[in-house]
Amino acid sequence: MNYAQRFLIKPGSKVKLSNIDPHFKDAHVSKKDALKLIELNKLRLRALQELLYAEHKRSLLICLQAIDTGGKDGIIRHVISAMNPQGCNVASFKPPTSLEHDHDFLWRAHRDMPIKGNVTVFNRSHYEDVLVVRIHDLVPKSVWSKRYEQINEMEKYFSANDTHIVKFFLHISKDEQLKRFKERLDDPSKHWKISESDYTDRAQWDNYRKEFEDMLSKCSTEHAPWYVIPANHKWFRDLAVSQILVEYMEGLHMDFPEPSVNIGHIVKTYYVAKK
Ligand code: ADP
Repeated sequence: MNYAQRFLIKPGSKVKLSNIDPHFKDAHVSKKDALKLIELNKLRLRALQELLYAEHKRSLLICLQAIDTGGKDGIIRHVISAMNPQGCNVASFKPPTSLEHDHDFLWRAHRDMPIKGNVTVFNRSHYEDVLVVRIHDLVPKSVWSKRYEQINEMEKYFSANDTHIVKFFLHISKDEQLKRFKERLDDPSKHWKISESDYTDRAQWDNYRKEFEDMLSKCSTEHAPWYVIPANHKWFRDLAVSQILVEYMEGLHMDFPEPSVNIGHIVKTYYVAKK
């Protein structure tokens, strides 16, 4: 199955999350095989990231969005961790600091964009400014409604300037979220992850669905596509994301740069001559 094709939100299409099964998994791949495939994908990702770093011509931004417990941290831990930290970093989007607040809403996204040769993961992202901001009425509709176009413009600008952008929405069901919250409550080592807003926001589930649908419908573009990944099965989520990333990076057709020195001369001078 071609996961990129299957989970891509086609630009201009209207997304209804109730039509996308969060419990979906590939009937042809068992969990056991998936775990092996994920390990292979991680090796490929590491090699591709090294190419990106060596080539030093462009960068890759990976945006992760999901409802609480949706698996953003899991993707970073299980998939992105394959990459060499030398060329990869994670930017987490928390409630804006007062400095961030005093800037336009895209300022911090711009600030944290990957430099040439690097991969940056946005754990949450500038999309919070059309998600949580809407849910909690932090700005009026006249402000947030313009942001979709402003986000598309910013992403277009970055992609025209050699930052490739891939966005994953990790889609879990309401039942699965409840199960994961309960697991957190049962496991003292996960208590630190629990915040009151997890539970108050849960009551907003149906509103969030609408905000997510707007984000996906309005902001999946040729240059910065959204993929909706069925994420109830963690192993399938990791398989699909790693597979899509590998294929995306392979599609960049990267090459190692030409050496900056004359290799023949070096061999002759330092190895052959000294024999
Ligand atoms: P996570 O849940 O991703 O592990 P946190 O528990 O620190 O991380 O949550 C980050 C919080 O910051 C979330 O509740 C998110 O909605 C909030 N946040 C992010 N961006 C904004 C924003 N622009 N305005 C208000 N709140 C935001």
